[in-house]
Amino acid sequence: MEQDLISLKEQLAKKEKEIASLKENLARLQTDSGNNNVLIDTQEKAAELPPLKEKPSLSNKDIMRYSRQLLLPELGVQGQLNLAKTSVLIVGCGGLGCPLAQYLVAAGIGRLGLLDYDVVELSNLHRQVLHGEDREGQPKALSAAQSLRRLNSAVDCVPYHMQLTPEIALQLIGQYDIIADCSDNAPTRYLVNDACVLSGKPLVSASALRMEGQLTVYNYAGGPCYRCLYPVPPPPETVTNCSDGGVLGVVPGIMGCFQALEVLKIASGKQPSYRQQLLMFDAQEARFRTIKLRPKQAGCAVCGEAPTITALQDYEGFCGSAATDKCRRLCLLPEEQRISVQEYKAILDKEAPHILLDVRPPVEVDICHLPFSLNIPLASLEDRKAQHLQQLKEKIKERKQQTDQATDLPVYVICKLGNDSQKAVQILQKMSGAELESVIVKDIRGGLMAWAHKIDQSFPQY
Ligand SMILES: [Zn+2]
Repeated sequence: MEQDLISLKEQLAKKEKEIASLKENLARLQTDSGNNNVLIDTQEKAAELPPLKEKPSLSNKDIMRYSRQLLLPELGVQGQLNLAKTSVLIVGCGGLGCPLAQYLVAAGIGRLGLLDYDVVELSNLHRQVLHGEDREGQPKALSAAQSLRRLNSAVDCVPYHMQLTPEIALQLIGQYDIIADCSDNAPTRYLVNDACVLSGKPLVSASALRMEGQLTVYNYAGGPCYRCLYPVPPPPETVTNCSDGGVLGVVPGIMGCFQALEVLKIASGKQPSYRQQLLMFDAQEARFRTIKLRPKQAGCAVCGEAPTITALQDYEGFCGSAATDKCRRLCLLPEEQRISVQEYKAILDKEAPHILLDVRPPVEVDICHLPFSLNIPLASLEDRKAQHLQQLKEKIKERKQQTDQATDLPVYVICKLGNDSQKAVQILQKMSGAELESVIVKDIRGGLMAWAHKIDQSFPQY
């Protein structure tokens, strides 16, 4: 008897192992085939969705699943049926797109398009909560669709692992009822806006950076579009995104949930609350503010009375930046004022006298820095902060004395990615000879992240 029990337990453990391994294989195959499908025929896929079938009534399972929201007079059975026949396209499956998608799928939206060109990285997970550690390196659109199907298999989730381009935007956006912009770059914002205006689709747009969030609904019932408010893009060097500026994960979480609320109102047949209104969220104070926006502009280039934009354009050219949420690479200096990390390593190896100036803010210097660097944040240089300039002057004097160097002493400027360092070089060049002793200033191309990549792999990346 006891022997039987032991033998049965052993058999059970063996079978469980087999099942686990089969499940793993299945998951891998599903992901692989999913990848292939999406990668091979994105272009056709953008054109080929069958129309959503309208449900005549709710099934018993629907009633059970959605019972807590069906009880609300603001939604009711008709509202629920309206959700089921509505399709929503989410542009960007990141910090905003994840919570937005989660609530739309949970609420029973009919179809959800999930567009993202990027793959999951470890630094995404603090805010992009549909992905997970086991999804690192996988396309975000597929990872999101996989998680969402587990939540509600009745919703048709359509992943698009690709970049939204002017070539496909109209075709794709034309197939959805509501568009949600969860991207983090100017070219995509203008592209999505123009495509929504040209196809007559409401655009629920949000953004989140550092400790602040914003939300508004564009192109809805005679309200303004994005271009009505921002006819020209900001200069690319003034734009900060999450990878440069940082963001607290819960901030896009809150804004993405707000987007879901606005989308659900429109989808269920109600009015959105933020047409021609801007919601501003200050996470520091945990306060919301609402600002009335100016109305639709008669002179707007795309939605005005005599539009000049009647087809999609080159948005990267228009904005002067790439349609990516990754870090931008500015090019402000001529080649001779820049050195590579390899060249800087050679300077260190030769022990050639110089000053290494790190212009990142103190919070980043705390994360990691090169031990021999002098830290003066770019903001202090921009403000010509006397105390900081004095520090630099003293350092230059000290180094010149130490090395008996009568001529110009090189100052190499470094930051995280090599953008701010170029701005700092420009400022120091203006000061050189007047406010500052004459110096040669050069920027280290690619900054500390290039250093971590190419010279010292043990240096932290952030
Ligand atoms: Zn407009």
